[in-house]
Amino acid sequence: MNLKKIYFIGNWKMNGSAKDIKQIHAVKKYVSKKQNNKIEVVFCPPVTLLLSFCHEFKNKIIKIGAQDCSDTDLDYGAATGSISCKQIKDLGSKYIIIGHSERRANGDDDKVLSSKILNAYRNNLKIIFCIGESLNEFKKNIAFKKIKSQINNVFSKNRKILSKVIIAYEPVWSIGTGMVPKLEYLNKIFLKLHSFLKSSYKYESPLILYGGSVSKNNMNELKNVTKCSGFLIGGASLKSKNFIDILKKYYN
Ligand code: PGA
Repeated sequence: MNLKKIYFIGNWKMNGSAKDIKQIHAVKKYVSKKQNNKIEVVFCPPVTLLLSFCHEFKNKIIKIGAQDCSDTDLDYGAATGSISCKQIKDLGSKYIIIGHSERRANGDDDKVLSSKILNAYRNNLKIIFCIGESLNEFKKNIAFKKIKSQINNVFSKNRKILSKVIIAYEPVWSIGTGMVPKLEYLNKIFLKLHSFLKSSYKYESPLILYGGSVSKNNMNELKNVTKCSGFLIGGASLKSKNFIDILKKYYN
């Protein structure tokens, strides 16, 4: 049995409606049977379902997170269409995903991400910061250079915050494609990332997750990634059965 805490974080993206929430009780039941505090299960629904999720699960056994926030440093104010970290926190959310590649593709640059990180930190939300290379960067063998710069560009001026952050390594070419990097490749990236975070940021026991097409079919392999503290799971988090199958594979 692994002694460190393992994170299983479901990212619902722009999916789900109110009727889809109740089925997550099956996950809650499965996790509560495990009766240990070495597993952290978090669901990040779209903002439309955040309040209902928080009411339904009260952050007990199943923790709740948001997928994004505003980059303004206002708690409340004139920012039509935006949602502040204060409001997210008020809803009862404990976690937040920042820097997902789908948000980056939508215009979140390093400056915007730095502001979001500061806001989330100020509001005591646990940050899941996503990094990852494109297919082109992977092919050119510059993946590590890319993810290192994604970290430095946001955290070099806020160094102390990083050791409170969960890093999610998600190769962009793996998200939603069914393509998962080979174990050997992931081991190399995770080891390098681990020692980089320790040496450059004094992040002593870095929490690094893998994300990208995680499913029960690749869990036997993915659970062997060195220094991996868990998974960010998109498509396979929408249905309890698929999510539980992943947990079963991990713990068998
Ligand atoms: P996926 O998404 O598991 O559907 O590939 C992961 C993510 O985007 O976080």
